[in-house]
Amino acid sequence: MQLLREKILTQGKTLPGNILKVDSFLNHQIDIDLLNEIGKEFRTRFQGKNVSKILTIEASGIAVAVIAAQYFNVPVVFAKKTVGKNMDKAVYIGSVYSYTKAQQYNILVSKEAISQEDNILIVDDFLANGQAILGLKEIIDAAGANLVGAGIVIEKGFQKGGRRLRDSGINIQSLAIIDSLEENKIVFRNE
Ligand code: 5GP
Repeated sequence: MQLLREKILTQGKTLPGNILKVDSFLNHQIDIDLLNEIGKEFRTRFQGKNVSKILTIEASGIAVAVIAAQYFNVPVVFAKKTVGKNMDKAVYIGSVYSYTKAQQYNILVSKEAISQEDNILIVDDFLANGQAILGLKEIIDAAGANLVGAGIVIEKGFQKGGRRLRDSGINIQSLAIIDSLEENKIVFRNE
């Protein structure tokens, strides 16, 4: 997606540890025009898949998921990272290792939020090692729902997640795939 690539090239910052900082349009300040284009593109890529719900993880996935959901006319469910007092007691639990925070944590979704009738599209901002998607898949499997695929804004193609998940048969649609990320040099995969 050309518009996204241009944003990454002009505003993305590379940090040590192969981290791409996109705080000016995706992870802190949010460019709504760009997110609308991203939402439309996900809609096109998952056309005819009968998506009934979009699932993401708080916090950074929520904005992308909510705008995308308007093009699918479906609700968004976001997995929570902490248990609040108002959270339902009956929850599905997935386990995620965070690459950026270097720690393992659980994600939770109320059993009332998804059911075995659901066709679920996962949406997230980044795909690196695939841990977030695997944690969400645990929840989808536990609910007996169907995983339609995953729409990702930026995939770091030099990390293992994308290949592993595609090899396991999951339909992963990434709008920009980065093949290498060196200081001030971002190389995209030609698609
Ligand atoms: P994974 O679970 O695929 O290993 O990592 C994906 C999650 O880690 C995303 O939800 C995102 O929040 C975070 N993440 C991984 N790599 C990056 C990165 O380079 N930049 C930013 N901003 N977030 C990242």
